[in-house]
Amino acid sequence: MITNTDFLSGLNPQQKQAVTAQPGHILVLAGPGSGKTRVLTHRIAYLITQFHLPPDNILAVTFTNKAARVMESRVEDLLGEKPRGLWLGTFHAICARILRREADHLPFGSNFVIYDEDDQQSLVKTALRELNIDEKMYKAASIRGAISAAKNNMQKPEDLTSRTYREEVNLRVYQRYQELLRANNAVDFDDLLNEVVNLFEAKPEVRERYSRRFGEVLVDEFQDTNTAQYQILRHLALSGNSMFVVGDEDQSIYRWRGADYRNVQSFERDYPDCQKILLEQNYRSTQTVLDAARAVIDHNINRTPKHLFSDNGKGEKIILNDLMDDKMEADFVADTIQKNIKAKLWKGSDVAVMYRTNAQSRLLEEAFLKARLPYRLVGAQRFYGRREVKDIIAYLRLIYNPSDEVSLTRVINVPTRGIGDKSVSTLLQYAHNLKLSAGDVLSELGKLGQQSQHFSAFSGSIGIKLADFGSMLNSWRESITKGFPLTRLFQQILDDIRYEEYIDDASEEGHQRWENVLELGKIATEFDDRGLDEFLERLALVSDQDTLAEGTEAPTLLTLHAAKGLEFAVVFITGLDDGVLPHSRSLDDPEEMAEERRLLYVGITRAKERLYITRADRRSSYGGYENCTPSRFLRDIPATLVMNSGIIMPTRTSRPSMERRMENYSNWSTPSPTYGSFKPAPRQSKPPVEQRFPANCRVRHEVWGEGLVVKSVLEDGDETVDVFFDTVGFKRLIASLAKLEIVKK
Ligand code: ATP
Ligand code: MG
Repeated sequence: MITNTDFLSGLNPQQKQAVTAQPGHILVLAGPGSGKTRVLTHRIAYLITQFHLPPDNILAVTFTNKAARVMESRVEDLLGEKPRGLWLGTFHAICARILRREADHLPFGSNFVIYDEDDQQSLVKTALRELNIDEKMYKAASIRGAISAAKNNMQKPEDLTSRTYREEVNLRVYQRYQELLRANNAVDFDDLLNEVVNLFEAKPEVRERYSRRFGEVLVDEFQDTNTAQYQILRHLALSGNSMFVVGDEDQSIYRWRGADYRNVQSFERDYPDCQKILLEQNYRSTQTVLDAARAVIDHNINRTPKHLFSDNGKGEKIILNDLMDDKMEADFVADTIQKNIKAKLWKGSDVAVMYRTNAQSRLLEEAFLKARLPYRLVGAQRFYGRREVKDIIAYLRLIYNPSDEVSLTRVINVPTRGIGDKSVSTLLQYAHNLKLSAGDVLSELGKLGQQSQHFSAFSGSIGIKLADFGSMLNSWRESITKGFPLTRLFQQILDDIRYEEYIDDASEEGHQRWENVLELGKIATEFDDRGLDEFLERLALVSDQDTLAEGTEAPTLLTLHAAKGLEFAVVFITGLDDGVLPHSRSLDDPEEMAEERRLLYVGITRAKERLYITRADRRSSYGGYENCTPSRFLRDIPATLVMNSGIIMPTRTSRPSMERRMENYSNWSTPSPTYGSFKPAPRQSKPPVEQRFPANCRVRHEVWGEGLVVKSVLEDGDETVDVFFDTVGFKRLIASLAKLEIVKK
């Protein structure tokens, strides 16, 4: 028997208040690491046991599928049994589920497929071609972006203005794109949400069914809901159900996907009876980490200041490191992790390396490889964006949904089977003239071969080739109707199309590609008893964080966006340079700049014990290097929280005076004697050297010009000097490598 206290014992009084609140409209607003997700999880268990709410009356929304799985198993632990019938998932997954169930009311069939960005782009290209619009003038990628932006605002084509020709193009393509989606029996990500809103508006009885069913709706990461998601919640609330939303406006980082943190204020306005609960104790981080985070976020205007304290003690200072270029930055990160793991001070899985954009992972990956340090890279594109993985997924989608012509055109001639582009166009044209999909035509050709009425429409051997392809598709579909496990279908496809022969050309890359296909097969085995539809849905809705492999000891590399909700003992945030973080796109847009700040805030607050921040004087760019200046956010982190840095904080006004910069520097303590700070790779020990550049002598460096030696230390058989250069400020240098000349002793 579960007692009340079992899931209340590990909670502080405010958390308890939230978990046990009487049903109603509850808004838990609190900073990072204060237990919002924990409270939401405990609330589910509490509702089931104390309020006797059947699990199938509960809808809980998480930000990633992974978070949903973690939450489900935590609830199961708390209850001691599986909460059967509980709906728990991301908004997108929940909407897909509703749409499949309600297909009778919708303009597409229940076996719709979900198109990703690539698929959307090829539909836009088809639309451009059909409308005779110049693809060079009007880029498919930017039109796709415009369509998605419109959908994020819940605008239909007819809601758009067409004052300029470009707007007119966007509008016409959007219209055609939407028709093509329907013809393909497909939806895009935005549709998943918008179609549920449309459905709820058009069919009040359907809306009522759902809002009555879900007596309690709980939402994590509420600050990152977009307009459509908020509308869905509003619709569900119409039958007077209870809502429990938790969030932190300061952690809203998905504006580019339409997220609107002002939904937090809308919630308070729309539900004036709402009970607001604040949590103030942070259980995750040291006080130093929290102070740095607060110093960064405090500069954003229009925010609710939050008090956050930690009982975890002050902890270690933050280590800021200034490297000469981005390659050295990556090496520094990999080497530091390597040394600390070797010294058994850290476990690989406790460490995360974060960056602003995916592209920054390349140098880090190289540095990890060089250091022979295994890592796990988080990113959906990395695996699911690969050609071979996309090919097999396209086969599966086509089997599931014969109308999916984007998948059909992708694989009809992969591996090559003599069906060229022209034949594909003929097939599509022929089918569309008969108001059929190409898949229908193929299926009949496959069944009846030369007896088929369609056969004579194709010249030469094309009819036979199409019939062969159609017959393969038919046999795979049969495998589903017979209820064979997914793995068997997977194998059957690979055998029938001889994919290994095609993709593995005996090169290293070829082997790797085949390995990826097998990896996809491994994922498929998990869905053996759930079926193709669930498998495809999982693949379509995968988010970056969902690719985070469990149970490995390796450090994690991930974007700041993907780090949301997670925590690690040691965090490295790289690329603290203007133009990187904050991103160059944000430099003249205050709203975007505020979001960049929130992003750094999210990054910093992932750290439990140690935080490293790195930057580089120059970064590789197309065909050369670009000089960088330290991120403007750095100047907001108080020097007292920071250890050992050559980074000069630019002041808000003009360039800092020499005195001011010296003062800044001297406030920071000296480097940690062990692996905490930057140390050059261990060199062979040499006999002690003499001190050539004592404090207060003036030196000249090849690149940085003249500077003043502030400190000189003899260690590891070499001399390490801290120099204040007139041009770039402080640098720590190894005397034997740095080619310094003495100007004046
Ligand atoms: P974020 O805003 O980053 O999503 P959060 O507010 O959701 O953070 P949680 O992830 O729920 O915070 O909790 C942060 C950490 O603190 C977790 O490791 C959690 O287990 C722990 N924690 C939360 N509340 C307590 C508590 N009362 N006692 C002990 N540990 C707690
Ligand atoms: Mg959380």
